Amino acid sequence: MTFEELQIDDKLLEAISYMRFEKASPIQEQAIPLALQGNDLLACAQTGTGKTATFLIPILQDLVKNGSHGFTSLIIVPTRELAIQIDQELQGFSYFTDTTSKAVYGGDKGADWDSQKNAFTEGTNVIIATPGRLMAHLRLGYVSMKNLRHLVLDEADRMLDMGFIDDIRQILSYVPQKRQTMLFSATMAPEIQKLAQTILHEPKIVSIAIAKPAEGVKQSAYMAYPHQKVDLITHILEQNPDYDSIIIFTSTKKNIHSIVSAIKKKIRNVTIDGISSDFEQAEREEVLLRFRAKQTRILVATDVLSRGIDIKGINLVINFDVPRDAADYVHRVGRTARADAKGEAITFISDVDVPKFHKIEHLIERSIDKIPLPQELGEAPEWKEYQPKPKRHFNHSHHANKNNGGKKRFFYKKKNNEGKTPSGKTE
Ligand code: AMP
Repeated sequence: MTFEELQIDDKLLEAISYMRFEKASPIQEQAIPLALQGNDLLACAQTGTGKTATFLIPILQDLVKNGSHGFTSLIIVPTRELAIQIDQELQGFSYFTDTTSKAVYGGDKGADWDSQKNAFTEGTNVIIATPGRLMAHLRLGYVSMKNLRHLVLDEADRMLDMGFIDDIRQILSYVPQKRQTMLFSATMAPEIQKLAQTILHEPKIVSIAIAKPAEGVKQSAYMAYPHQKVDLITHILEQNPDYDSIIIFTSTKKNIHSIVSAIKKKIRNVTIDGISSDFEQAEREEVLLRFRAKQTRILVATDVLSRGIDIKGINLVINFDVPRDAADYVHRVGRTARADAKGEAITFISDVDVPKFHKIEHLIERSIDKIPLPQELGEAPEWKEYQPKPKRHFNHSHHANKNNGGKKRFFYKKKNNEGKTPSGKTE
């Protein structure tokens, strides 16, 4: 489907063509016409599918067609990087329109507070905000939502995982009842469905390739003990000298520095940076800028970067460890092969990570090739095929069983947090 077929304003079509979007992606094709009719939307789509344009285009069309007076549209997102990125994409789409926008997020030592406050008091049309910072502004009383007609919750699953549910509930109490609401999530866990029921009105449901990496990603894995991993990276880089943009993901912030310095020691003249939520905002932006500009070949990152962040031309994602949450695997791997390009993802699995990797293979409904470790790196841990156990009605993903010496048995089952907040507290 072409964007012309969507019958949207010429000003938007022109911007879309400048952005070199030729054909609508599957989620855009399915969801944009529904949203243009004013429906609420519940969309299950991972990043990399074109979900951002899916909510931005209908919002902008409504603003162009029906006028944009004051603060009309609120987009709530889990991270500041995603807020900035959505704002940039919005600036592209709205280039030929009068729409104004602002990304509102915390963590920059307050320097930007006044300009954020001005955005609210001066009636900026579209605000893309992280929940905590938005609540901080709302509490001070100068934010008027009386003109608000669009509400988007992007990466809702991530926001719940990050413990933002209370902030979101409070924000909802400020938002007018009559509005169009669009909720985007990579997974449809029970808590997301519960949230959807409370905030959406007769939503149209659109689901695109639930939690599977894009087709263009070549996925493989090595069994490797922690002490073998840096040498393994050196080996992979030697084999792929053409890869000029590589992300190494690790679940642990404190690993970042040691990975960066170990690689610097092993590979002469390598350009490498680390990034995590511990870094100052300005530092994070600078590191990302260098990486985007391909001045840095390797970026070592925590999962802060795995969601939503769109950097073109990443050839390789290395999972230094297996992510705790299977959905994070999909997000990490989704950093490569964006929008139809080709890319590669390699995961290092240590002995203790085998059950977690089984869970990932189950989620993505395929097994990943395990490449033998190069001989000079020594003996690798053993990959154990999963033997399904009979299901029980109460099964959980990890279940300590009295009869097996307290060892954790592994069951395939989606995380069941019903009735619990992300922090594990019962509601
Ligand atoms: P998203 O899933 O919104 O993060 O989008 C992933 C990437 O695909 C971004 O770089 C978008 O600019 C790009 N993109 C989204 N829709 C299209 C499209 N219809 N044609 C080409 N690129 C697109």
